[in-house]
Amino acid sequence: MDSARTPTSPSDAVRITAATGRALATEAVHAGRDDLAGQGLHAPPIDLSTTYPSYDSRGEAARIDAFAATGAEPDGPPVYGRLGNPTVARFETALAKLEGTESAVAFASGMAALSAVLLVRGSMGLRHVVAVRPLYGCSDHLLTAGLLGSEVTWTDPAGVADALRPDTGLVLVESPANPTLAEVDLRAVAHACGSVPLLVDNTFATPVLQRPAEHGARLVLHSATKYLGGHGDVLAGVVACDEEFAGRLRQVRFATGGVLHPLAGYLLLRGLSTLPVRVRAASANAAELVARLAADPRVARVHYPRIGGAMVSFEVHGDPHEVIGRVRLITPAVSLGSVDTLIQHPASISHRIVDADDRRGAGVGDRLLRLSVGLEDVDDLWADLDRALGERAPDAIPLREALSGAE
Ligand SMILES: *Cc1c(COP(=O)(O)O)cnc(C)c1O
Repeated sequence: MDSARTPTSPSDAVRITAATGRALATEAVHAGRDDLAGQGLHAPPIDLSTTYPSYDSRGEAARIDAFAATGAEPDGPPVYGRLGNPTVARFETALAKLEGTESAVAFASGMAALSAVLLVRGSMGLRHVVAVRPLYGCSDHLLTAGLLGSEVTWTDPAGVADALRPDTGLVLVESPANPTLAEVDLRAVAHACGSVPLLVDNTFATPVLQRPAEHGARLVLHSATKYLGGHGDVLAGVVACDEEFAGRLRQVRFATGGVLHPLAGYLLLRGLSTLPVRVRAASANAAELVARLAADPRVARVHYPRIGGAMVSFEVHGDPHEVIGRVRLITPAVSLGSVDTLIQHPASISHRIVDADDRRGAGVGDRLLRLSVGLEDVDDLWADLDRALGERAPDAIPLREALSGAE
C-alpha cells in the first residue's frame, strides 16, 4: 500500500480559510450568494436569458470593446449569453473563493476548460507543454495527439525544469493523479516552472483537501462533473486563476463557445454547499475500505494518497473484469465523485485512449481497478466488494507478506 492515514479531519478542513477570513465550510454555503438577502431572495435565481435588451447601442459598443481588450466581465448585463451568465457567475465566484484565487471561469466540461487553457497559450505562440503522467486519459490524448496544435514533452516531476523551452506555455500535472493516485510535490514543481504557468488538475483532491494556488500553481483545473457537482448529473469544467488569465479564458470561451448552461451553474453552486461534508464523509469510508482491502489476500496492492480523499485504486491477483461483473450495490461505471460508489477498469475505459505502453509506463496496470467511494454505509460497500472479489484462495499469501520488500 502506498500510504494510508486517516483522511483530513473536520477540524483540518475548517482551518482552511478563504481570503475573507471565513472557514472553507462557511464559504461553501455562502460564497456567490452575498447579494441574495438584499434582493429578498434565499435560493439563487436561475437566469436562462440568451440575450439582454439595451436601448443604448453606443454603450453596448463600449462594453464590447472593453471585453475585447481585457476579457473582464462587462459591467451590468452580459450582452449575450456567450459572454457570461449571472447564474454561472455565482458558481465561478464561489469556486474562486474556495480555491483562494481571484477568479474562476466555467466551461461546458473539464475537457473544454483544458482546451481553453491550451488555446490561450497557443495563441501567444507558446505551443509547447510539459506534462507529468499519468493524467486523465482524455487529457493525455489531447496532448499526445496534438489536437489543438500543442506539442508535449512527458517527464517526471524532477525533470520539469530541464524540459522547459523558450516556447513552453504550460506545465501540467494532476495530483493525486487519475487513476494511480500518485502525488506530486506541487511546491517543488511550481518552483521548477519559473515563470511558466503551472496548471494543477485538482479534480481528485477538491479544495477541501488541497488548494494548489497556495503552493504556487497559477491555474487550478476541475472536471466539475466530479466532486464539485457531486451527484452525477452535471457535466462541467472550471479553471480557477488570477483575473488576468481569467480574462483571456473568457475571451477564448466567447470565441469558441464552450459555455456552461445556467442550469448546470445552479446545480454546481448547490453542489459546492455540501462539498466539504461530502468529501469528508466519503473519505472516511474510503480510508476504512483501504484498510480492509490492504488486509485482503485477493488484493495485490492498494493505492491511497497521503492527503486522503475518496478515491482508491487497487490491483487484484485475479481477473479485474470478473470483479466489475460481480458488483451489485456499487455501480460499474466511469466517472467519479458522486454520492454513490462507482468502480471501473482504467485500462479498458477511462485510460483506454492512451497507448498501451504509455499507459503501463505510467503505472496504469491491466489489473488496476479504480473505486470512487460514495456515501453509502461502509459495511454495505465492503459486503459488495467482498463478494465481487470472488473466492478467497485457501493458500493465498497475505498482502503484507506479499508486499514485503516491494517498495
Ligand atoms: C473527468 C476528468 C477530466 C475531464 O473532465 P470532463 O468533465 O469529463 O470533460 C479531467 N481531469 C480529470 C482528473 C478527470 O477525472
